[in-house]
Amino acid sequence: MRLIKSIQKLSSDHPNRFAYVNRGSVLTYGDLWKQSDNLASYIQKHSNQAKSPIIVYGHMEPEMIISFLGSVKAGHPYIPVDLSIPVDRIKKIVESSKAEFFIMTEEIDEAHFASYPLKKINNEELVSILNNNDTDVSEDQWVAEEDSFYIIYTSGSTGNPKGVQITASNLQSFVDWMITDFPINNQGNFLNQAPFSFDLSVMDLYPALSSGGTLYAVTKDMIANPKVLFEELQHSNIKVWTSTPSFAQMCLMEPKFSNNMLPELEVFLFCGEVLSAETARLLLERFPKAKVFNLYGPTEATVAVTMVEITKETLETHTVLPIGRCKSDSQLLIVDNEGNPLPEGEKGEMIIVGPSVSKGYLGEKELTDRAFFVKDGERAYKTGDAGYIKNGFLYYQGRLDFQVKVHGYRMELEEIECNINKSQHVEACVVVPVYRDDKIDYLNAFVVPAKHSFEKEYQLSSAIKKELTNLLPKYMIPRKFSYLNQLPMTPNGKVDRKVLASEVMA
Ligand code: AMP
Repeated sequence: MRLIKSIQKLSSDHPNRFAYVNRGSVLTYGDLWKQSDNLASYIQKHSNQAKSPIIVYGHMEPEMIISFLGSVKAGHPYIPVDLSIPVDRIKKIVESSKAEFFIMTEEIDEAHFASYPLKKINNEELVSILNNNDTDVSEDQWVAEEDSFYIIYTSGSTGNPKGVQITASNLQSFVDWMITDFPINNQGNFLNQAPFSFDLSVMDLYPALSSGGTLYAVTKDMIANPKVLFEELQHSNIKVWTSTPSFAQMCLMEPKFSNNMLPELEVFLFCGEVLSAETARLLLERFPKAKVFNLYGPTEATVAVTMVEITKETLETHTVLPIGRCKSDSQLLIVDNEGNPLPEGEKGEMIIVGPSVSKGYLGEKELTDRAFFVKDGERAYKTGDAGYIKNGFLYYQGRLDFQVKVHGYRMELEEIECNINKSQHVEACVVVPVYRDDKIDYLNAFVVPAKHSFEKEYQLSSAIKKELTNLLPKYMIPRKFSYLNQLPMTPNGKVDRKVLASEVMA
């Protein structure tokens, strides 16, 4: 695979160049290559199942990247799992993926996974494997073409996360587009803000590694401590910034976040949620030398498929920013309810057709058949996003279902409801997003409680929230709980979400 080949070339041409920096921990291209070979060789010797998935658990450690590369060199896809994901959800991922190996770059109690036939590699064992000088791995073993390169689990409406399989060809198509159409092929420093279990991280990880750049990690501890975050940024020499708009908005609250802090910054890449005109305007003001790009795409089509540069002129003529044009090897169609193409200007569902569309959800044929199909010999994905085209530019118009983005995190309201309903204290529930300035600020759960003995509502809320921490990542747990005797119904007997939504608007 060309992507792996280019990392190989960099590791032999520039072995001492930094590939990844996470505060004190530094990984060179030379070590990345050698240590991932050691791991690949170990995996090949100990695997009983060709192409079985490998879970890589942790939070932005250099060993995570080595483990990704080691897995794909051994011919296995990896599943990145961030430590923000609770144990019960990881168990679901283990069950659904039938993973063979579980690599831990952070500590987690192995006893939780004792009942699964997993080959566990804890951090100590990993360090010894990475340094064992056993690089017996051949290029023929690398993942290629239709083999899965990685599998990313996203929120699923049935109550369980679903694993999006991204093939070597999918990823190559994405990386080729990034390197060709964006001014990022400059061997500079890239910001790595998104943890690896979110596909936004792929937008910096592989373009950086295939072009000789250095990734600069922003960990959850830095984000929790803005003083440390901005000190680190000041020393980062970042040229290419990739993040959600929410993260940039948070940084913009610091007045010193400007060209003085990041004098090398040339490119902002945004994806994953609406980029507001105000955020783009502030960035162009504070970073007059930098270009701002808005990209759009779902995990199922490998990170992003459309892009547009947001200039001062764009801001003069737009209050809602476009998401741009589709990459040249793909098509983005707007269709009606029956799947018929709509003329320019009309709003419909966005369909992505082309080589970066996933082969589907791992082990989930029904879900895959519902969302994916073949069009003129190419894979196509029904995004569930609404949009329209005007003057050749695409505009995003929100979702057609109950998927939402809260502060950049993708989630299905139905998955949250399904897990709240598991609580012994809950009889029924509906989760409603609460908006501020056209953006979701937080989630409000409306609950019909079961019989309980709590005196106060806040005690009931904390009991439900406590149960949820074992089932859902923190960012999916509604901030507010409200209690009702019954949920409002529409005339045809469905829960009336609109009534509840209007209640939280008041
Ligand atoms: P994810 O799979 O986490 O990348 O989330 C994909 C979803 O995020 C898309 O289906 C859209 O609903 C939303 N999204 C991605 N990029 C943008 C964008 N530039 N503007 C608005 N929404 C976006």
